[in-house]
Amino acid sequence: MPLDPVPALLARATERLERHFASLPPLAASTGNFAATPGPGSAPAAQAALEEVLEAVATRLADNYPYFHPLYAGQMLKPPHPVARAAYALAMAINPNNHARDGGRASSEMEIEAVRHIAQLFGWTECLGHLTSSGTLANLEALWVAGLSAPGKRILASAQAHYTHNRISAVLKLPFTPIPADDRGRMDLNALEDELRRGDVGAVVVTLGTTAMGAVDPLHQVLALRQRYGFRIHVDAAYGGYFRLISAALDEPARLAYAALHQADSIVVDPHKHGLQPYGCGCILFRDPSVGRFYKHDSPYTYFTSHQLHLGEISLECSRAGASAVALWATHQLLPLLPHGEFARGLGQGRAATLDLDLRLRLDARFEPLRAGPPELDIVVWKLAAPTPRQAAALAQSVFAACAARDLHLALVELPLTWFQAGAGAGTVTCLRSVLMKPEHQAWLGQIWDKLSAATTEVLRG
Ligand SMILES: *Cc1c(COP(=O)(O)O)cnc(C)c1O
Repeated sequence: MPLDPVPALLARATERLERHFASLPPLAASTGNFAATPGPGSAPAAQAALEEVLEAVATRLADNYPYFHPLYAGQMLKPPHPVARAAYALAMAINPNNHARDGGRASSEMEIEAVRHIAQLFGWTECLGHLTSSGTLANLEALWVAGLSAPGKRILASAQAHYTHNRISAVLKLPFTPIPADDRGRMDLNALEDELRRGDVGAVVVTLGTTAMGAVDPLHQVLALRQRYGFRIHVDAAYGGYFRLISAALDEPARLAYAALHQADSIVVDPHKHGLQPYGCGCILFRDPSVGRFYKHDSPYTYFTSHQLHLGEISLECSRAGASAVALWATHQLLPLLPHGEFARGLGQGRAATLDLDLRLRLDARFEPLRAGPPELDIVVWKLAAPTPRQAAALAQSVFAACAARDLHLALVELPLTWFQAGAGAGTVTCLRSVLMKPEHQAWLGQIWDKLSAATTEVLRG
């Protein structure tokens, strides 16, 4: 691996930050004011103790899959950009809290700007939004507002929607109904309309980029149903939101779904999924800023130093890492969210790798990709060819393990059998799954394929 560029960048930036606080009386002769940063002059024994612990940490951390490497092509894991890591670590010298301006003055401003960049991606300017600790928390806020807007009404989401929507609805005591998915993993519109006819639906969760296979629910068609039946539309784009940047290059109907995104009532996107951020960074956006009224509270101790709107006044969470906002802001400076920018190009590279892998699978009789067609975003799922689903599942497990032995890390997923075999009965089958979300996956696809092919040959030979 090339030398990690972050520590050197960070050391210089930390010195610069420290100079801004130079007028304060020093904490101790031997350290800077950032006492947690052991300076060159700190006691050798203290240095040695720190180093020893960090070496133990490095040893413990080695027990991980190599998420940062292109041969890790399993779950939704993408390394944070060096600028995000450096900016996050730099913010750690301050450790701001974005629950209120007095906890994170600069980082609150940076959050507001970074959130505005994301909102612009969806064509929104006057919306209400903020970062959250995760996509789950962001979705919780969206469904909480949906429940307050239409008390007691049902929440609907596709059976392929993220599992937390069901759980969040239970926490909020809102009735939840799953809608079957079609053979592309998209919400079935006829089944949706059957439920809407009952007249008790408060909100429909539309997923752009499902977690299992990156399916894109037909948002444009759900919007047409909203005209007829009236309900809120919450778009869960935790995974797929950034694909708005390259949606013109997607196949229909995904292209049409993305083009309609600005008409949603709320949108969730996770910068810590595709946005090159460390964990702890989700984002919720509401098209109508007046939903801010639901968040009103009068805590006597949170906000005193500013008359401006505080982030803590418009979010359910209290303390939240200001460093997440700093890292996201820094990333947007280096890689603006532009349709033809470097960040968008990276999404396109993962997409190209996906179509490449899908095509190779389709041309190889050992594999059975989705019958209905190629993936909509950058996640590939495929079944192993075998006489029975049980045998196909066992083969998938064995190929998964044989790939891992070759340093290629894939994932397993359980999907309906009919999506792979015409006329198959009900029931599911264990399949292989690969999330090709790193730009490097395009250049590495040849090696990924060679390893997958060799591992499969080995397994089939028995
Ligand atoms: C990952 C994901 C979530 C949950 O987000 P977390 O950040 O993991 O809490 C929700 N919805 C979709 C579609 C996701 O892919």
